[in-house]
Amino acid sequence: MPMPLEICVLASGSSANATYISSGRTRLLVDCGLPAREIVRRLSEIPVDPKKLDGILISHAHTDHFRSAGTMFAKYGVPVYTNPETEDAILGKPSCGSFWRVRDCRCFPESVGDIRIETFSIPHGGGARDAGRPVGFLFRSGDARIGHVTDAGELPHDFAKALRGVNAMVIEANYHRPTVRRKLRDPAFSADWSYLNWVDSPTGHLSNEQCVEALGEILTRETEAVFPAHLSENHRNPRRDNNDFETASSAIALLEAGLGLRTRICRTFRRDKTEGRRSELVKVA
Ligand SMILES: [Zn+2]
Ligand SMILES: [Zn+2]
Repeated sequence: MPMPLEICVLASGSSANATYISSGRTRLLVDCGLPAREIVRRLSEIPVDPKKLDGILISHAHTDHFRSAGTMFAKYGVPVYTNPETEDAILGKPSCGSFWRVRDCRCFPESVGDIRIETFSIPHGGGARDAGRPVGFLFRSGDARIGHVTDAGELPHDFAKALRGVNAMVIEANYHRPTVRRKLRDPAFSADWSYLNWVDSPTGHLSNEQCVEALGEILTRETEAVFPAHLSENHRNPRRDNNDFETASSAIALLEAGLGLRTRICRTFRRDKTEGRRSELVKVA
């Protein structure tokens, strides 16, 4: 009897990322960017014992994605998986956090327990030393499929094709392109121009517009939930805020209306002082 998959985005955004995915028998974390005690607290709400995690998958070598992986390994014995390029990049950083505590970091496996895992290379970051080799994920258990991609300058076509009709999709909607383009013409933001140019480049982040374009290929009647992720919001600083959930979700809702779909749009939260909390727990089959 195939189990449905469960998903909960524990945190999403430039301050920390972690997503829980489970088949009931197998429990995974995609990224581990929250401090360990916050991962444990948020897992306890759904409720999951951290000792029962079967693996942590690290998408790329940015701190907001790997921060507490070493602590989770050392304290709870959770195996850590990534690719060799990303492991090297993390260990080469002066700020590798607790990652040195990971013994026997493993390559991404084809499956953990009853969850099959496919990875797809995505363009992001300032080269191998900065980000390693960033990937997005496609998870499968029985007939249920979940896609997960954040931190991508572009979504490669083969990945978008493989994601078509997934039951749930975590997809980056980092910035509202008109906001970033306006800042790039405003001398008041000149100190941020090189960063903003990178964000808006093919190795930066996905905009709302790119997110919607990708979802145009991905969404079908099978898709029950979309989690717009890694939004640049709630910094409470106009220099850093390039998006907000309402703008991102209304762009997705417009696409859905055009396609005649009513896929649920699930709120994700950036970790900060006021808004940091997990998404709802969604079960798909
Ligand atoms: Zn990130
Ligand atoms: Zn990144």
